[in-house]
Amino acid sequence: MEQGAHSALLLFSSLEESNFGNPSSIHWAGQKAKSALDKAREQVAQALGLEDPEEILFTGSATESINTALKGFFFQAQKQNKKLHLITSETEHEATLETAKFLSDMGALVTYLKVNSQGEMNLEELKAALEQSPAESIKLVSLIAANNETGVIFPFNEAAKITKESGGFFHLDAVQALGKIPGFVLDKNIDLASISAHKIGGPKGVGALYIKRGVKLEALLHGGAQERKRRAGTVNLPAIAAFGAAAQALSKRDLAGIDALRKKLESLVKEKISGTHIQGEKTSRIVNTSNFLFDGVRGESLLMGLDLMGFAVSSGSACNSGSILPSHVLLAMGFDKLAAQSAVRVSLGPENTEADIKAFVEGLFKVISRIRATRGS
Ligand code: PLP
Repeated sequence: MEQGAHSALLLFSSLEESNFGNPSSIHWAGQKAKSALDKAREQVAQALGLEDPEEILFTGSATESINTALKGFFFQAQKQNKKLHLITSETEHEATLETAKFLSDMGALVTYLKVNSQGEMNLEELKAALEQSPAESIKLVSLIAANNETGVIFPFNEAAKITKESGGFFHLDAVQALGKIPGFVLDKNIDLASISAHKIGGPKGVGALYIKRGVKLEALLHGGAQERKRRAGTVNLPAIAAFGAAAQALSKRDLAGIDALRKKLESLVKEKISGTHIQGEKTSRIVNTSNFLFDGVRGESLLMGLDLMGFAVSSGSACNSGSILPSHVLLAMGFDKLAAQSAVRVSLGPENTEADIKAFVEGLFKVISRIRATRGS
């Protein structure tokens, strides 16, 4: 966890008044807690380039934010006796794909945009999908800003503009964009955006949903008036305070340095290990993610070998680790099942150094050589 976020988490977990105070209470301890909550809301809003902190709703995760955005729109459409046309892509995070599947079962029309072999989407396909929306339906486009497995960046600002021009609403899964795309802030055409604290150096189990002022969606949790009646239930103040501190620290993060390290890693790997493929190599990607495939090397064997050396890398999506399901992202990019099971994703953090990269490439070379030798013997 980012240092400032860790201190904020410890501070707010241990402070008598913030443990005792509930931001919804009128008394002094409640007001202390409320000002900590307001501060975090401002810090998160600022990191997203927003002027109005009230447009930020704290949630328990980006998964919850995405569910709130998509289902909230669906219920809102139902209230107006309208059909929801949800347009998304085949390479979204499971939080979007599983919600889309649920909404399709509930009667929403769902269109999945395809990607090419580099993982790129086609804006013309988006235009065509929007034109094909049934009359009177509410159009909601939900796209991932950058893919969590390959790091490939979608042209999300252009997609939001096209969506706006066609009278639709636009939700951005910005989890992999914040702190990973230099200069990232929310464009005015974006209506909703989901982010997660643990992806920017904050704690796990807290996220946020940006809801542009004036955009209406039904709450998923009903009860108290917390979060301006958009999410009932007492908020997780220590985690939110730490989220705010992590968001504030982002402005000091050296993204160019991480980008240079990733490029170094990729060139060293290609130089030292034959049969290396980097997914989405020809398109723009976030600064810290590389998705590798090595000819003749299965993902699990590689992961296990690297794990024994102390390197924690993931096969495909982290959320699928532990299972050997092929990556839906690589399948959508046209890879076969075996390849889609064998890719490994390396993510760099601000704490990584050039020495780490060199040690990792050495380790990778040893494990791959061993696996290939066993296969050949
Ligand atoms: N969207 C993307 C692109 C992600 O990478 C993740 C998590 O890895 C999520 C959504 C879900 O975030 P959370 O873990 O906060 O539910």
